Amino acid sequence: MMVHSNDSPILTIVVPCYNEEEVLLETTIRLSRILRGLVANKQISSLSSVLYVDDGSKDRTWESISEFNLTYPEISGLKLARNVGHQNALLAGLLHAKETSDCVISIDADLQDDVDVIPEFISKYKEGNDIVYGVRSDRSTDTFFKRKSANIFYKGLRLLGVNLVFNHADYRLMSRRALNGLERYREVNLFLRGIVPLIGYKSTKVYYERNKRFAGESKYPLRKMISFALDGVTSFSVSPIRFITMMGMLFFLLSIITAVYVLASKFNGNAVSGWSSLMISIWFIGGVQLVSMGMIGEYIGKIYKEVKDRPKYTEEIKLDALVISMEEERCLIEIS
Ligand code: UDP
Ligand code: MG
Repeated sequence: MMVHSNDSPILTIVVPCYNEEEVLLETTIRLSRILRGLVANKQISSLSSVLYVDDGSKDRTWESISEFNLTYPEISGLKLARNVGHQNALLAGLLHAKETSDCVISIDADLQDDVDVIPEFISKYKEGNDIVYGVRSDRSTDTFFKRKSANIFYKGLRLLGVNLVFNHADYRLMSRRALNGLERYREVNLFLRGIVPLIGYKSTKVYYERNKRFAGESKYPLRKMISFALDGVTSFSVSPIRFITMMGMLFFLLSIITAVYVLASKFNGNAVSGWSSLMISIWFIGGVQLVSMGMIGEYIGKIYKEVKDRPKYTEEIKLDALVISMEEERCLIEIS
C-alpha cells in the first residue's frame, strides 16, 4: 500500500459561498479552530488555509470574506465574476487550491456538514487514500421532502447505471493527483459527485451526522434541484434514449398482435370498412417511428460521449526500467 509520505501536508479547505453573509463568521471561527488545532498537532502544514469562493453573491458575502482575510491569517478568498452555480464555483476553488496544496477538502458554507470529522479525513489521507468521501449517517435533520427527493434521486440514478456514493454530497477530501485527474474531465455540465468516483485511486468513507443549516436559507430551490438531478442523469446515462428504442420495439410487437386481432375481426365480419387498414397502419408506423428515433438517439448519445472527451484512463504508479549506460556497462565487464 502506498502511504502519502508527507507527514504534514498542506491542506486547503474550499468553501463555495452564495449569499452566505449570515453564516460566514461562524464558519470562519469553526474552520480556523479546526485548522489551528491540526497545525498545532503537526498533522498538517502551517501553510494550510481556507479558501472561500464567492459565487457572485448579491449580499455582503465578499465584504465579509475580505474582512476575515485581514483578521484571520489562514483565510483566503476568490471572487467569481458572476453567479455560476455551486458545482462550477466548487470546481473553480478546487483547481485554484490544487496549485498550492497536497490535499483539498470541499465543504458547504452553511455548516451542515460536521467540521469535526476533518481530522479523520486527514488521517485517512495519510493512510494512503486519495479520495475520502464524507457520508451522512442520518438525514433526520433534513426536511421530509428533501429526504424523500434525495432518496428517489440516488435510487433513480443507480437504476440508470450512474455510479454514486450513497448519501455523499460534496463534502470530501481529494489529493492533488486526484484533482489532476479531475481536471482532465472537461465537460461543461458539471456533476462532480458523479465524476469523482470515475477518476479511480484508493478511496474510503468517513461518516458524520448532518446538521441543520446554521443560518440563512437553502440556495437550492426546487427548480435548481431538478435541473441538478437532470444534469446528473443526462451527463452519465444514455438509458433514457434506450428507453425510447425499447418502447418502439414494444410498439412493434403490439402492432403484430393488433394486426392479428384486426384481421380476425375483419374476417369475422365485425369490422367497419377502413378500420382494419387504419388500425394496422397506426401501430406499425408508431413502432417504426419510435425505433427510428431511438436509433438516432443512440448516435446522438455517442456524439455526446465523444464531445465530452473524458479521459479513458488515469495513470497511478510508474516504475522505470533500469537503464545502464554504455560506460557503466564497460565498468561492469572490466570488473568481471
Ligand atoms: N452555492 C453556490 N452557488 C449557488 C448556490 C449555492 O456557491 O449558486 C453554495 C452555497 O453557498 C453553499 C453550497 O453551495 O455553500 C450548498 O448550498 P445550500 O446549502 O444552499 O444547498 P443545500 O444544502 O440546501 O442542498
Ligand atoms: Mg446546505
